[in-house]
Amino acid sequence: MKRREFIGVSIAAAAAAGLSSCRLVPKGESHKTTVGGGKMSLRFYPYELQLAHTFTVSSYSRNTTPGVQVEIEYDGITGYGEASMPPYLGHSVESVCTFLSNVDLKQFSSPFLLEDIMSYLDTISPGDAPAKAAIDIALHDLTGKLLGAPLYQIFGYNPEKTRPTTFTIGIDTPEVVRQKTQECADRFNILKIKVGLDSDEQMIRTIRSVTNLPLAVDANQGWKDRQKALDEIFWLKENGVVLVEQPLPKERLDDTAWLTERSPLPIIADEAIQRLRDIPAIKGAYNGINIKLMKCTGLLEARKMIAYARAEGMMVMVGCMTETSCACTAAAQLAPAADFCDIDGNLLISNDLFKGVTVSDGLLKLPSGPGLGLTKI
Ligand code: MG
Repeated sequence: MKRREFIGVSIAAAAAAGLSSCRLVPKGESHKTTVGGGKMSLRFYPYELQLAHTFTVSSYSRNTTPGVQVEIEYDGITGYGEASMPPYLGHSVESVCTFLSNVDLKQFSSPFLLEDIMSYLDTISPGDAPAKAAIDIALHDLTGKLLGAPLYQIFGYNPEKTRPTTFTIGIDTPEVVRQKTQECADRFNILKIKVGLDSDEQMIRTIRSVTNLPLAVDANQGWKDRQKALDEIFWLKENGVVLVEQPLPKERLDDTAWLTERSPLPIIADEAIQRLRDIPAIKGAYNGINIKLMKCTGLLEARKMIAYARAEGMMVMVGCMTETSCACTAAAQLAPAADFCDIDGNLLISNDLFKGVTVSDGLLKLPSGPGLGLTKI
């Protein structure tokens, strides 16, 4: 494993001085910030994720993803959580640390009060989903450990029914796309391809020169013309694509509904859907939703979203951001309840902190717990 690069945040000092933002200084894991002081103690520290390859989607490229690691301790047991903040969602290390420094868990007598605690977090601010997800994941890990059972068992899910996960290939030159496809084609049963630029058909042809695996495509809102998008989707279907994610800008609901009605492939909302409360507005415009813990505040709300989507006859995809195996293993607990899984964020980084969910013959394999079942690397 590469040397871990930490950046500490002098939250306590900033809070003491009444500062609203945090000063970033180089620090190590030993310099965790601790808040609270009741039965549960909350600790956190920034951790920058290093990507194994430059990651390009239709709107930007990046080599790192900012993150914050969270630990909640209760009765001598530690639960692990994580916030990951890809830049397009507008969150940052500073915003997450500021939120976490305002969380007061000592008013709660037990980590099992998940509904109360998550409702309380929503009173601190309406947004800050990654920070809330970090707490939610840590509490779930903690409660699973206290019960001595893996989360999927507590949820009532069959771990033998996890879906294959897609492995994502970003937009790149044909040489790099060919190389990445060769590297992963025999380890996965389905690949996810980022599209949304003029080079889409070349991307697909390049991949098809290497493998006949089924493909999912994600346009990340990159297509602008609905008729061209429809024509593209018919072409993609002929070329073994089985799923289309976020084809048009999220604001264009009417155009998306038009497209979904005519599309031969399921259309899944990603950027258009964050939380449970967003589902009614997009109902009818998409065939399904991509649930990500960093968007929806964590497992508690994700499970409500699954129930709502199922009641409305919508498909469920469980996705992730670039994350360590902590948040990815949390998302993978939901895999038995999903139609599609895109839980590969831990496979895209070179400095993972945990061993957790793995991929075997293309299928997600859940650790036996308790809680998330993570092992620190
Ligand atoms: Mg997406």
